[in-house]
Amino acid sequence: MKSHAKVVVIGGGVVGCSVLFHLARHGWTDVVLLERDELTSGSTWHAAGGMHTINGDPNVAKLQKYTISLHKEIEELSGQATGVHLTGGVLLAATEARLDWLRGVVAKGRYLGIDLEEISPNEAAELMPLLDPKQFVGAVRNKEDGHLDPSGVTHAYAKAARKLGAEVERFTKVEDIVRRADGLWRVITNKGEVVAEHVVNAGGLWAREVGRMVGLELPVLAMEHMYLITEDMPEVAAWNQKTGTEIIHAVDFDGELYLRQERGGMLMGTYEKANKPWSEFSTPWNFGHELLEPDIDRIAPSLEVGFRHFPAFQNTGIKQIINGPFTFAPDGNPLVGPVRGLPGFWVACGVMAGFSQGGGVGLALSNWMIEGDPGADIWAMDVSRYGDWATMAYTNAKVRENYSRRFSIRFPNEELPAGRPLKTTPVYDLLSAKGAQWGVAFGLEVPLWYAPEGVKDEFSWRRSSDFEHVANEVRTVRTSVGLSEISNFAKYRVTGEGAAVWLDRLLACKLPRPGRMTLAPMLKEDGRLIGDFSLANLGNPNSNGEGWFLAGSGIAEQYHMRWFEAHLPRDGSVRIEALGAKLTGLSIAGPRARDVLAKVTRADVSNAAFPFMAAAKMDIGMAPCLVGRVSYTGDLGYEVWVAPEYQRSAYQTLMAAGEEFGIGLFGSRALNALRLEKNYGSWAREYRPIYGPLEAGLDRFVAYGKETDFVGKQAALAERQQGGKLRLRAFVVDAADADVIGDEPIWFDGVVRGWVTSGGYAHHSKTSVAMGYVPKEIADEADGFEIELLGKRYRARVQPSPLFDANLKRMRG
Ligand SMILES: Cc1cc2nc3c(=O)[nH]c(=O)nc-3n(C[C@H](O)[C@H](O)[C@H](O)COP(=O)(O)OP(=O)(O)OC[C@H]3O[C@@H](n4cnc5c(N)ncnc54)[C@H](O)[C@@H]3O)c2cc1C
Repeated sequence: MKSHAKVVVIGGGVVGCSVLFHLARHGWTDVVLLERDELTSGSTWHAAGGMHTINGDPNVAKLQKYTISLHKEIEELSGQATGVHLTGGVLLAATEARLDWLRGVVAKGRYLGIDLEEISPNEAAELMPLLDPKQFVGAVRNKEDGHLDPSGVTHAYAKAARKLGAEVERFTKVEDIVRRADGLWRVITNKGEVVAEHVVNAGGLWAREVGRMVGLELPVLAMEHMYLITEDMPEVAAWNQKTGTEIIHAVDFDGELYLRQERGGMLMGTYEKANKPWSEFSTPWNFGHELLEPDIDRIAPSLEVGFRHFPAFQNTGIKQIINGPFTFAPDGNPLVGPVRGLPGFWVACGVMAGFSQGGGVGLALSNWMIEGDPGADIWAMDVSRYGDWATMAYTNAKVRENYSRRFSIRFPNEELPAGRPLKTTPVYDLLSAKGAQWGVAFGLEVPLWYAPEGVKDEFSWRRSSDFEHVANEVRTVRTSVGLSEISNFAKYRVTGEGAAVWLDRLLACKLPRPGRMTLAPMLKEDGRLIGDFSLANLGNPNSNGEGWFLAGSGIAEQYHMRWFEAHLPRDGSVRIEALGAKLTGLSIAGPRARDVLAKVTRADVSNAAFPFMAAAKMDIGMAPCLVGRVSYTGDLGYEVWVAPEYQRSAYQTLMAAGEEFGIGLFGSRALNALRLEKNYGSWAREYRPIYGPLEAGLDRFVAYGKETDFVGKQAALAERQQGGKLRLRAFVVDAADADVIGDEPIWFDGVVRGWVTSGGYAHHSKTSVAMGYVPKEIADEADGFEIELLGKRYRARVQPSPLFDANLKRMRG
């Protein structure tokens, strides 16, 4: 075994081997994979080997498509058979709601280049002869489904990597990992030590144990999973003989089942409701090529449905039931990327669909390590989407929920209950008493809307029970004044003598003068967005509690801290702190917002003294606060930042003062309706690391002319000169009883040319609005756009100027 390597990959399952292959293929050949046993000794060897392109997140779906296309290539590169059978498959719907969901999947496939087609139950039965068409209301055909040999694929990655110069050390168990003072990692094994610049944790079933070696508690949990294999079936033999083809894959969502041919019989697996975690606290090191005891009672309810939906199963025997563990993150997507605070330590774990996702994970991670960027939008897999709130108990609750809902529909207005409430702010019970319906963002409870007694969300793809109540909240804001809780923003304080110089280099905007705020896009070296913030200059960066204040997307707090910290000067001249729950927020907005504020503070908040984009410390009643004159509602409004111990007092003071003006509470759904009619985008929807500021319409906040060579400047200048490829546009949609939510295709002249990033109903303007990206060549066309929604295309028109307050009179007045 070598004593030094650029990268040590820990784990020889399908994921570790894919990472090794991709690193070697992209030119890093001084890499070694350490496996404590034979390759495939974790979850990989007993997998069912199924692969699918579809995923709830379109960007993960793209990587799944890449993975599936890669298998043939690694077979050729390595000379190792992968056993790929690209049979195609059918996705089955037994209910109308499921069919609506499937139509959304077909629609997404159009711009992802995934060939999906809606077919009738009878057509499905012609493709998959074992199903009873009477049990279904519709289906979708996917030509890219299939299965493979899990061990073959893993060995093919490893062999291809070795051919490129990478090394694989089997029977080499990593026992400890220690960071040296010079930043290199000592990887200590039972066979000696390797010193490496980078370490990748691809430990699969043992990813938690490997994480603990560096003090990291990863939010992953293994679950038991069962599939059965039948005896040979005459129906299968007859079909094979008649068509010369295998029986294709089927996913029966309502039965919570997946099926495929396995030799002369069938394989049927299920994500059962009565699921069971495996080794909840730690994974035994002596667990090897073992299977778990099958528990047929647990899967019996699913099998019953399966036998009804696929009657031929009633006449066959079960040859074997496989029960094996594999790991999940709380939301079921992988955990990939660099770990904040541990430079050179990377994770590629929690991969629950290794044969659909392993290639994409390897590609993204190797790009990230070599180029400094994953090269794709992988937010849905980024390890930084979790914070310290994703504890072991939280993970346990969430993984169980996710497993039991693997094939369930999640409606756009459906909030999942497990692991909640966890983080709450001091006004939580006050808002609950007013009917707050809660959602969650980065672990924190967030008020979505306020329901009268006896009313709650009715889950639906269409406008639902909240519609009129959200409309009332919007009306309150636009006609008098509304109050909302905004603690879910991420808040950062930047101090130190180097703060201004550092921010000027990190952010693309011009820095504001003391007492002023600005919108602050943050770019990567490639000129694309990596953040958008509001930045306030509170003056005197050296004194405690002042300096610079940044507010940004709450869900990206860890993501942005990882970026900030990686860019901090080493001399300690700049300090940045994520304030998290140390600072809570309230916002008041609407034409009477100033009247409310003026009543509760001695500060002069007249337009002249405290204009749009001003920021200052002021007391609200008795509570010391930081107030910024800005509002995401696009109205006259203020953001009030207050320490948690004063939040109740500030809230009660504002509500009491607002009574004479008819103040009312509004939640994030109303806020969405309000920002949409202002054409305001938001992080992780409109603003993502694959778009340039010109494409995203944030170029007006980029100080292209500032002297400082800010990160991404050259690339941003090039984008401005060359014009980029896409444009973000707001559309008014002729929708009927449902509104877009995001990821719907945008058609132009009968062809899919773009995709929706978000949307909804703008209650004040009484208009259905969508925001999305289209190629720049057609971005200003007056006519020809349509947006597909629940299987139908609706006319859409570009809305270049905001529907509300286009002349900014209200906001600046
Ligand atoms: C019953 C069942 C059916 C499945 N069906 C499918 C399917 O149809 N399609 C699909 O895509 N997925 C399926 N899966 C899931 C699939 O198996 C996983 O997604 C995949 O195997 C994860 O691979 P991995 O490399 O991340 O982890 P693992 O396979 O667990 O590999 C981790 C490796 O790391 C090694 N390791 C850990 N710690 C150390 C250490 N300290 N030192 C050295 N080596 C170490 C382990 O020995 C192991 O070999 C199924 C899983 C099960 C259990």
